[in-house]
Amino acid sequence: MDEIVDGLSEVSCDVLVIGGGTAGPMAALKAKAKNPKANVILLEKANVKRSGAISMGMDGLNNAVVPGYATPEQYTKEITIANDGIVDQKPVYKYAQKCYSIIEELDSFGIRFLKNENGDFAVKKVHHIGTYVLPMPNGETVKKALYRQLRRARILISNRYMATRLLTASDGRVAGAIAVNTRTAEFLVLKAKAVILCMGAAGRLGLPTSGYMFGTYENAANSGDGYAMAYHAGAALANLECFQINPLIKDYNGPACAYVAGPFGAYTANNEGSRFIECDYWSGQMMLEFFNELQSGKGPVFLKLNHLHENTIKEIETTLHKVERPTRGLFHEGRSTDYRREMIEMHISEIGFCSGHSASGVFVDEFARTTVPGLYAAGDMASVPHNYMLGAFTNGSVAGEDAMTYAENVDFAEFDAADVAKEQARVLAPTKREDGIPPNQIEYKARRLVNDYFQPPKVTRKFEIGQKRLGEVREDMEQSMMARNAHELLRALETASILDCADMAAHASLYRTESRWGLYHLRTDHPEKNNDDWFCHTLLSKKDGRMASEKRAVQPYVVPIAEDEKDLYDKQRVRASA
Ligand SMILES: Cc1cc2nc3c(=O)[nH]c(=O)nc-3n(C[C@H](O)[C@H](O)[C@H](O)COP(=O)(O)OP(=O)(O)OC[C@H]3O[C@@H](n4cnc5c(N)ncnc54)[C@H](O)[C@@H]3O)c2cc1C
Repeated sequence: MDEIVDGLSEVSCDVLVIGGGTAGPMAALKAKAKNPKANVILLEKANVKRSGAISMGMDGLNNAVVPGYATPEQYTKEITIANDGIVDQKPVYKYAQKCYSIIEELDSFGIRFLKNENGDFAVKKVHHIGTYVLPMPNGETVKKALYRQLRRARILISNRYMATRLLTASDGRVAGAIAVNTRTAEFLVLKAKAVILCMGAAGRLGLPTSGYMFGTYENAANSGDGYAMAYHAGAALANLECFQINPLIKDYNGPACAYVAGPFGAYTANNEGSRFIECDYWSGQMMLEFFNELQSGKGPVFLKLNHLHENTIKEIETTLHKVERPTRGLFHEGRSTDYRREMIEMHISEIGFCSGHSASGVFVDEFARTTVPGLYAAGDMASVPHNYMLGAFTNGSVAGEDAMTYAENVDFAEFDAADVAKEQARVLAPTKREDGIPPNQIEYKARRLVNDYFQPPKVTRKFEIGQKRLGEVREDMEQSMMARNAHELLRALETASILDCADMAAHASLYRTESRWGLYHLRTDHPEKNNDDWFCHTLLSKKDGRMASEKRAVQPYVVPIAEDEKDLYDKQRVRASA
């Protein structure tokens, strides 16, 4: 199976896009549209036809700023408040201004959105303040429609290549990337003038409580390679302590999903069937109330639909069971759970990094530029908070256009051939061992430690012990991990990314000595929010070969937030009324 083949080839292009899920295809399309004569390569670990978070489709756009429902200013304000104020508003505001044109473009690709009888987009309210959720009743077609556009634009697609490291020049510019074929282990060196990272969330960081290593909330191929690659190339990563933690269906580990069912009257309830949070939009504060309810003895927490009319439930099932995760219907069938009869048990997910749902990502500005010249990032792995699928499309488009402009104005940066040899040696080391530990065991151990020590509430002592234990796992990985074929080699490389992300999660969490973002960064030793010292971003990067964190001031707001609006997301708990 998947024999390891010796080989190395080299290609060059103007713009290299890594990750062909959501942001990547849009980045490639826009780069090519900007300069049809230029070479654009879209590199994907799996197959672009069915890869990434949207591989099976999507229920809706979680954050659509549609004229008549919301303004870019209102959206920017909502996301700033939802994120405890730690937001550089420029990228969020730019997204809010641009995303409607992207919706129209997606509509023209054949991806249909819910419309009312007048043919206008029918947007629903789920957020705490504004109205931003645009359902996609035929959202299962999203990947097919995207792929058609890639073929039409003649984008060069390299499937089954896993990028492992970025190449940089002595002046710090990006020079390309190194990738390994996931079926043969042959190397590919890609020289590029600009590189766009679109490799999704770090979704295999914690272990799902169901015990299935790949039963993650996130697309399981998103093992944090993008975060690790950016780190090793010297890019800064922002707010990694702001973990992603989601309210999911217990054991299924998919979204419950109040965004679809909420507008129909469903809600999150405790074991008495009572609503305890005012708003089901995912935020750190909402997750904290969820956690508190579990601690209070009123858990488990449930998604409640059994008060709804049969016709309403049928309509919800049509979307929830068929569009985004078609396995959901099968799950309920297997368990004999029926929305009509009972509430659906939920739980708190494993941790991860993801800007799509929280704010942890490779630092980018409003042009999707990272701190490494020529290197861009978009989607779940870039630092624009709460940007979800439409953010991936929109910021992917921003990245594609800006990267092509950059590429048009520079020559290829020169990298040191020794860097390629060094990376080959690192990658192939597990294949040179006759005996050792298989990657899945190292991965399991690392992720179990992440759950044991890093799942919030965060305890300093636990983090310190976790760091030590992970150091031992790293030693095992570097000295004893063994891969017998190309498939195991892929898993071995993913394990290295997971360990890098776990180390970064711990380092960033210990650096911020306060609590913020509800459950996402709840530190028992520093339980209060401390705006005097910590109303800032944190940036983590590799300095002199070591992990280092620093503060970065929040940039002046483009949309002012009034004093009495700042804590609106803190007021989530349903208050008892007389
Ligand atoms: C279960 C679930 C439900 C969601 N529901 C909604 C919803 O209803 N509405 C909404 O707006 N948003 C939703 N989201 C969020 C949305 O799907 C994501 O924000 C968005 O799709 C992220 O796009 P991306 O391009 O960053 O990542 P992805 O689309 O995941 O793409 C990342 C790609 O990178 C590839 N890759 C990873 N590592 C490498 C490597 N080393 N080399 C090469 N390729 C690599 C992966 O294979 C993948 O194809 C949901 C997410 C999940 C997980």
